[in-house]
Amino acid sequence: MSLRDFLKDCEAKGEVVNVSGKVSSRLEAASLLAKYDGGPVVMLQDVEGKGLTVVGGICGIRERIYRALGVREASYFRVVSEALRNPIEPVVVDDAPVNEVDLGSSLEKLPVLTYYEKDPGPYITAGMVVAKDIDEGFQNASVHRLLVLDRERMAIRMVPRHLYALYKKAVEREVDLQVAIVVGIHPAVLFAACCNPPLGVDELWVANRLLGGRLRLTRCNKVDLLVPADAELLIEGVIKPGETALEGPFLDVTGTYDEARQQPIIRVLRVSMRRGALYHAILPGGCEHRLLMGMPREVSIWEAVSNVVPEVKAVRLTPGGCNWLHAVVAIRKQWEGDGKNAALAAFTGHPSLKHVVIVDWDVNVDDPIEVERAIALNVQGDEDLIMIKGARGSSLDPSSSKQGITCKVGVDATKKLRSTKS
Ligand code: MN
Repeated sequence: MSLRDFLKDCEAKGEVVNVSGKVSSRLEAASLLAKYDGGPVVMLQDVEGKGLTVVGGICGIRERIYRALGVREASYFRVVSEALRNPIEPVVVDDAPVNEVDLGSSLEKLPVLTYYEKDPGPYITAGMVVAKDIDEGFQNASVHRLLVLDRERMAIRMVPRHLYALYKKAVEREVDLQVAIVVGIHPAVLFAACCNPPLGVDELWVANRLLGGRLRLTRCNKVDLLVPADAELLIEGVIKPGETALEGPFLDVTGTYDEARQQPIIRVLRVSMRRGALYHAILPGGCEHRLLMGMPREVSIWEAVSNVVPEVKAVRLTPGGCNWLHAVVAIRKQWEGDGKNAALAAFTGHPSLKHVVIVDWDVNVDDPIEVERAIALNVQGDEDLIMIKGARGSSLDPSSSKQGITCKVGVDATKKLRSTKS
């Protein structure tokens, strides 16, 4: 299953816009992605005459992500949750399309985009990074922004999560961490890499489950890692212990700039691609960026709330909350107090969550007017709010304290089971 297969389907549905004229990789390409943000897939046929087609907006609407995962809106949470708990090992093949064209060890042939004026340079934004635990041998796949420093080096932003744990271990042993970066994969694979199963679960196995066992992997050439065989582009490299460079500032899901920090450097060993490769570029702060970050967290919230109330209909990290800070959760209330328990559980499912509104089963979580009406008709401020002071929130929230401490608020906007008025 490849990105090409998926895009063929999008094309047949009339969801692809083609831009054939020559476009600059600095700001101009990004402005075109912004113009169509939240709509069709955009194909830029000629970025700087580099001969690769730049494609963006693939996961820019929820419906396309559902389609990529083979789910319907109603089955989304359950199917993804099951895939995270029951991953399937993919087959490994020798003859892989991603090796068709050898580009040596240089990044210069790639149409890497610079998105905004204040960016420190061109960024690879749809790079899935695969690495391996040096003791136990399991792989991890996650998505990281990569700042191109020169032809053979990139700085990688690593928040202290799974890849960072693998990197730290390599640093302590004073050995290189091998990495493989893959760009241009089926959106179900990219989505799986944005999920957060426990360390030790290979996200590529999760992707394989989501794709019904149809993901093919292949061995890399310079590093000992397995990557999707049908990917468009593969960059193999190493991170040497202690080598860092200044990374950032970079525009994040909140539409505000994240600060610049010292981050590890990837030294490129080999670049290869499919013939006529498609280069996937994700617009920072755009719909595709926000949905790929937010939608997997909706599943985490769904799982957490499902532990405390029997039926959770839907979870939305809403666009107004940057698909990250605000959630609406629709539950079937059985007991008085379920709404508050659901709110508490939602915070445990997504630690960056700041405000959550719990609504009844029949409220459309995608309609802000319906949600507001539920607040208007059901909420008494002295009874239906919970407030948790001094909790850790999102580092992306510009109103939180410097240490990321925030106040979390849950709003129980479910109807009272027994009317307080007769
Ligand atoms: Mn992981």
